Amino acid sequence: VEKPLRLYNTLTRRIEDLVPAEPGHVRMYVCGMTVYDYCHIGHARAMITFDVVHRHLLHRGFTVDFVRNHTDVDDKIIRRAAAEGVPALELSARFIQALQEDLKGLGLLPPTAEPKVSEHIPEIIDLVGRIVAQGHGYPAGGDVYFSVESYRSYGQLSGRSVEDLHVGDQADADPKKRHPADFALWKAAQPGEPAWESPWGPGRPGWHIECSAMSMKYLGERFDIHGGGSDLVFPHHENEIAQSECGTGLHPFVRYWMHNGMVTLAEEKMSKSLGNIITIREILREIPGETLKLLYLGGAHYRNPVPYSTEALAEALVALDRLYQAREAADEGATRVEAGVSGDLNAIATDFGEPGRDLLRCVDDFSSAFDGAMDDDFSTPGAVALLFDLVRHTNRFAALPKARVRGAPLLAKARTSFALAADVLGVGAAVPLGFFEEMKGKRLAAMGLERAWVEDRLEARAAARHDRNWPLADQIRSELDARSIIVMDGPQGSNWRVRV
Ligand SMILES: [Zn+2]
Repeated sequence: VEKPLRLYNTLTRRIEDLVPAEPGHVRMYVCGMTVYDYCHIGHARAMITFDVVHRHLLHRGFTVDFVRNHTDVDDKIIRRAAAEGVPALELSARFIQALQEDLKGLGLLPPTAEPKVSEHIPEIIDLVGRIVAQGHGYPAGGDVYFSVESYRSYGQLSGRSVEDLHVGDQADADPKKRHPADFALWKAAQPGEPAWESPWGPGRPGWHIECSAMSMKYLGERFDIHGGGSDLVFPHHENEIAQSECGTGLHPFVRYWMHNGMVTLAEEKMSKSLGNIITIREILREIPGETLKLLYLGGAHYRNPVPYSTEALAEALVALDRLYQAREAADEGATRVEAGVSGDLNAIATDFGEPGRDLLRCVDDFSSAFDGAMDDDFSTPGAVALLFDLVRHTNRFAALPKARVRGAPLLAKARTSFALAADVLGVGAAVPLGFFEEMKGKRLAAMGLERAWVEDRLEARAAARHDRNWPLADQIRSELDARSIIVMDGPQGSNWRVRV
């Protein structure tokens, strides 16, 4: 019997076995973005965390229904749209488009559904109606509020009590609310805002109700996993549980609650970071998206804060470059095996001495060790460490004379381990040549260099070498090197790379 996958449940504050309601089928909802601006590196953490959860569940053979919403009706969207003089839904559509580009750039798998609030107003009105009918909600002057005192379990997720929430909120309490912690399910229409007809008059949904209504529509009234950033535990997720359980009368709404930690700006100056949020697209302009994934997945367990700095990102880029050098050697080995190179793996490992034996041991153990780390509450730092053991052993082996030819079967075996890591982490998933070309393009652009200039200098150097003008050839090599362009001379001519 296969060992179960284990995960930390915020609701029970324990590590538990994952037992979905329907065996083999996981239904998961993750809170998406409020689409009023470009996504920043904090949003990327949640996206990357749950992409890996999604990928690992698929790898473990589950059927996964993964729903992530777009909040396209919201105060911030309305304010920004008013400032720009465009309709709110036009602004949100523009940022949904930008979000999709960013996530594609990061190489994330698309969810199975991405519902928008604006397209689920009837479902939301229906759920609010059910909550009111059960006596857990009350209309007040065109708004509808949820009554926290009506629900005995309020506070179960965040560990707060209704009594605690009373303290300190009295002074600026909204007179329309029965309790200061009561929250809006429906907000009365304001001039210039998007509004829909409802039994309580024209208005729009409160923030929390959308996730209850949309998750239940796509996943059923009860489902397996609900995810989001740790900043959403209270009040958003607490309120989702209250609304959903009071609307349906079913408990628990969700079996497992998962929350990712925040991104901390480690070495950036605070003055720089304030009001100057780093967006995903800024990063993608300069480096491949897998770099940020590697920084997050290797840098911390998903529940812990992860430090972000430009130095840490640069280190991740160097590591990614080494990963692709190893993958290139492994791919080449697989190509040679397809072309007929064969050999016994133990004999090859012995022939090449310690580096051969180390690589063979690494690939033999890889899959079980990797799955073991990921089954242990998605411990990506452990999985990334295993991946980089594989990188180190592969590069050391591939650097030995004749290893790329005679050692091809062992390199081909390593390729299956790289493929597993790429499937689950989404790191090392590109074709190596494509990665190196992307790196060249983005690094040259970041340095303000033209590819044509590099190629021109390389041609001049080739001509100098042809004329046996070694001082000139060396001078051009130094000139390129000073701009981080490394020239590599091989039997098929010269190639070049950008130093990372
Ligand atoms: Zn939500």
